[in-house]
Amino acid sequence: MTTTLLPSTTLPILNPQTHDTASYDDTDVIADIKRLKKERGATILAHYYQEGEIQELADVTGDSLKLARAATQVDSPIIVFCGVHFMAETAKMLNPSKKVLLPDLQAGCSLSDSCPADKLWRYQEMLRENGRKFQTVTYINSSAAVKALSDWIVTSGNAEQIVRKVPEEYEILFVPDQHLGNYLSEVTGRKMIPWPGSCMVHEIFSVQDLVDMKRKHPAGKTIAHPECPKNILEHSDFIGGTEAMIRYVGGFAEPTDFIVATEANMLWQLASKHPRHRYLPVPGVSCACNKCPHMARNTLEKLRDCLRDLEPEITWQPEFDKAKEVLERSLLRD
Ligand code: SF4
Repeated sequence: MTTTLLPSTTLPILNPQTHDTASYDDTDVIADIKRLKKERGATILAHYYQEGEIQELADVTGDSLKLARAATQVDSPIIVFCGVHFMAETAKMLNPSKKVLLPDLQAGCSLSDSCPADKLWRYQEMLRENGRKFQTVTYINSSAAVKALSDWIVTSGNAEQIVRKVPEEYEILFVPDQHLGNYLSEVTGRKMIPWPGSCMVHEIFSVQDLVDMKRKHPAGKTIAHPECPKNILEHSDFIGGTEAMIRYVGGFAEPTDFIVATEANMLWQLASKHPRHRYLPVPGVSCACNKCPHMARNTLEKLRDCLRDLEPEITWQPEFDKAKEVLERSLLRD
């Protein structure tokens, strides 16, 4: 089967005048969500990769680091986490006494799945048997069982700072994202043993389309997430996590075109915060824009149902105790 790519000129350009919010048919569901949220005393946290209509309903939107920290400040007894499973697990670990709900329990993550805990444990044992002295630095996109095997947890927002903290006498086993590991190795000069994992969304941006877009928008700036492979990063004017992207575009006083290489829902957040600019999504090799299918499992209807039924819930698991220690040391203390 052949796939036809849309020419990049036909890609959606997001600005606040044109971008979609909820359709008319969603208004009843949205009204139910607002009512149930109030009745339940729930706080909704939403990742920047959720659909704009869900981000609009959230009390806090953010990247993994901001949301993990926000979860510790929540007063209400219920947190509804609109994101993927490892994020809701993280919120639970940092708030054991709260009820943490995830609208769709199947909302996973290809990056997290690429590093199963039993495989990591065997690899660490092999390194130890070979006399290697190392610390394991783990990207937050990982299961609680993998976090429990780690020395440090990082997000794209604090990874560089934590990597620089690891004493020089240790090698760094960086899991699970090889691209972020390689990028961090370049900016810090630290040698990494990268785990061969990757994000299915950031992995498949089309370099050719990016080059074409840069040619068509010569004054535009390209911003890319460090989960992208090197062939995308080397065409970028700015590399950073989602919070850093928001700060970067905010620094441009004049209306500017930004070519964006990260999950496409981030464009909604950028347009909300800095509407004077235009945002152009870099397409994937097999689709016009890159949306995460795992994040997309959370819908308005599932959000409503989970507020109504108070499930699916993230329950405490034995590995959470150790993972919680590593998380708190890494994310909550400077
Ligand atoms: S965008 Fe990538 S890293 Fe983020 S949840 Fe989806 S698969 Fe995982």
